[in-house]
Amino acid sequence: MGKALIIGCGGVAGVVIHKCCQNSDVFEEIMIASRTKSKCDAIKEKLDGTTPTKIRTAKVDADNLDELCALIDEYKPDIVMNIALPYQDLTIMDACLRCGVNYMDTANYEPEDTDDPEWRAIYEKRCKEEGFTAYFDYSWQWAYKEKFEKAGLTALLGSGFDPGVTQAYCAYAQKHLFDQIDTIDILDCNGGDHGYPFATNFNPEINLREVSAPGSYWENGHWVEIPAMSIKREYDFDQVGHKDMYLLHHEEIESLARNIPDVKRIRFFMTFGQSYLTHMKCLENVGMLSTTPIEFEGHQIVPIQFLKALLPDPATLGPRTKGKTNIGCIFTGKKDGKEKTAYIYNVCDHEACYREVGSQAISYTTGVPAMIGAMMLMTGKWNKPGVYTVEEFDPDPYMEALNKWGLPWQINDNPVLVD
Ligand code: NDP
Repeated sequence: MGKALIIGCGGVAGVVIHKCCQNSDVFEEIMIASRTKSKCDAIKEKLDGTTPTKIRTAKVDADNLDELCALIDEYKPDIVMNIALPYQDLTIMDACLRCGVNYMDTANYEPEDTDDPEWRAIYEKRCKEEGFTAYFDYSWQWAYKEKFEKAGLTALLGSGFDPGVTQAYCAYAQKHLFDQIDTIDILDCNGGDHGYPFATNFNPEINLREVSAPGSYWENGHWVEIPAMSIKREYDFDQVGHKDMYLLHHEEIESLARNIPDVKRIRFFMTFGQSYLTHMKCLENVGMLSTTPIEFEGHQIVPIQFLKALLPDPATLGPRTKGKTNIGCIFTGKKDGKEKTAYIYNVCDHEACYREVGSQAISYTTGVPAMIGAMMLMTGKWNKPGVYTVEEFDPDPYMEALNKWGLPWQINDNPVLVD
């Protein structure tokens, strides 16, 4: 079918690469390009000979537009898969526009330097106007809509699990289960244990920024913001058990609020153990989560980047992690004039993921939908010029692919609701 350029070679990209190589009919050729080429070469060496997919590797700095364009022009991919960091989203979108290629990613744009005065001024205005203070939001990438439309290209934003699969669940519920969705609760439960007192399951910098920020939810047409971790609930998750979960701001709330007609409330909850929260609070209190550089023995260091260097690399958690994840959406609303509820979710086993692709379930649950999103564009199943999130496309082929490629979902028609 075609060629994909995969940018980044970390925890999630490892899964994407394995899954593309399992799906060689669609991904006949891939190029893995990242900052550290040796990581790309190592995975190529592991997979060469086990798959018909032809693999090439390259070094690229995805913050450098000219370097990206030179690589895209030379390789001529059908799609660029951005599996690097959200910091690179805009540069890679610019490169796709300049070179005439479709784009996809797994997380929306946020800047690396949140002290940049130009960015800060726009951010502060947005916080006031919109009413939430997360560093990431869709405005930067939605601003590319017209450019992608004019170029006849598609940009698919946020095709991981959450964002990503959770929005496919919403589109599926809207299409098949409800006439009117009133409320959506997205529940992200990781029942896995890696045995470390403290580690993050994906990029520590991005993860800790997200978790230490104020929470917010959408209610009756506007944002309600709360102090970080101040709304806590307990939930009994299928195949995982009882867990404490906390309300967080999350990017898909922003697009779902636009795309699910007349939805009254959307909330996002994530589970955390007490040890994780105590470590995070302590690190925050001593300034280790700061993104502002400090002078240390003649060097400038960014505290959160130094912390990242100390923490276990998420890509190494695979062999140590036991237990399951359970991620899904609980819906309330109406069908044929009657009140209705539904819970669509997936359960994923860390050890089974490791056996299959050598990664834990957080990377797996992100990497599989990234491959599927790219497949939707490459096979023309999802094909409209512009910039879109997952719920804006027909959910059926995506939902079918989730069952086929390792993330089967189920529906509970009578779930316990979150108060
Ligand atoms: P990692 O930190 O493990 O990997 C990031 C990769 O990007 C590394 O290989 C890194 O290179 C590379 N990279 C970083 N900067 C550049 C650059 N300037 N040029 C080229 N390559 C670069 O992150 P994860 O794999 O954990 O996460 C990947 C993405 O997935 C993130 O955007 C994250 O937010 C998103 N994500 C989405 C989820 C979802 O459900 N939607 C869930 C989890 C993650 P190097 O190896 O040299 O450092």
